[in-house]
Amino acid sequence: MWIVPEREIAGLMTREAAFGAVEKVFSSMASGDAHNFPVIREAIGHEEALYGFKGGFDRAGAALGLKAGGYWPHNLEKRGLINHQSTVFLFDPDTGKASAMVGGNLLTALRTAAASSVSIKHLARSDAKVIGMVGAGHQATFQLRAALEQRNFDKVIGWNLHPEMLPNLEKVATQAGLPFEAVELDGLHEADVIITITSSFEASLMSHHVSDGTHIACMGTDTVGKQEVEPALIERASVFTDEVAQAISLGESQHAVCAGTKAESDINEIGAVINGTHRGRKSDDEVTLFDGTGVGLQDLAVAASVVDLAIAKGVAIEVDF
Ligand code: NAD
Repeated sequence: MWIVPEREIAGLMTREAAFGAVEKVFSSMASGDAHNFPVIREAIGHEEALYGFKGGFDRAGAALGLKAGGYWPHNLEKRGLINHQSTVFLFDPDTGKASAMVGGNLLTALRTAAASSVSIKHLARSDAKVIGMVGAGHQATFQLRAALEQRNFDKVIGWNLHPEMLPNLEKVATQAGLPFEAVELDGLHEADVIITITSSFEASLMSHHVSDGTHIACMGTDTVGKQEVEPALIERASVFTDEVAQAISLGESQHAVCAGTKAESDINEIGAVINGTHRGRKSDDEVTLFDGTGVGLQDLAVAASVVDLAIAKGVAIEVDF
């Protein structure tokens, strides 16, 4: 069994490799070669932690396993540790033997950023120039950095409920050589692509903030009750997702589907667009929306790819198990 510690991940995994792994597994999900198992997420009644498992099996990529972990809200203040903690476990699909244990914290950030980037590649207009961000926390910087590689953007604009966090976005834009402008929500009209990545439980982005032809990647809503955009925007958009079952239960689409204003059958898998079985964007005026809920198979895909890299570079630890 191989162990790849969290400290090694930054030196191994690239945005490009994460993008490739996530695009491939979305494709496998849509062609029926990979499926996610039901998600378990529990408040454990200790340290106010939320703990759970996301697992699956990718027959095409021979990846079987799960990510275990969650959110410990007091880690930073009490122990100087990050609040999100996760570890990926991989198993040999032929025998069931554990094959790898991989630090999952940075991988989660990279696979989440890769998901919105995959959606931009396949759904945003090719002439997109302005990218708008809603959210400026830890994950927002990863989403922005990866998204900037998908189109020839010439400007970053951003809104955040807590404006003191906006310099996080400005730093990424500056590193990429792009101007950054803080805007009110109405200012997002200028954006050709918008990424929402907040922990909000009520909508910030309304349909009237969004111009025709925009692609939106909604990445923050991964739990029942969370919400970033107005259901009217879901109704207006052509909606794509990583997994329909998750989108309608705990993703951004949960609210419109629950209200009966968007049918489950109108939500399409991004993998179908990747595979060419769905045409994706139909016109330059269409609003497309990716409901990125985050699936276990994404974690397994990036973890499997990092194990190969770690073995090749001689930094994976082999243990008898
Ligand atoms: P963070 O705590 O670093 O940042 C939170 C962000 O949400 C900040 O920009 C904050 O200003 C904003 N925010 C907080 N309350 C708000 C409100 N009421 N209205 C509008 N904005 C509000 O968190 P993070 O690590 O950046 O994660 C952001 C979200 O992304 C979380 O909800 C997390 O669960 C989710 N997430 C999703 C995936 C996925 O695969 N879809 C993966 C990782 C994280």
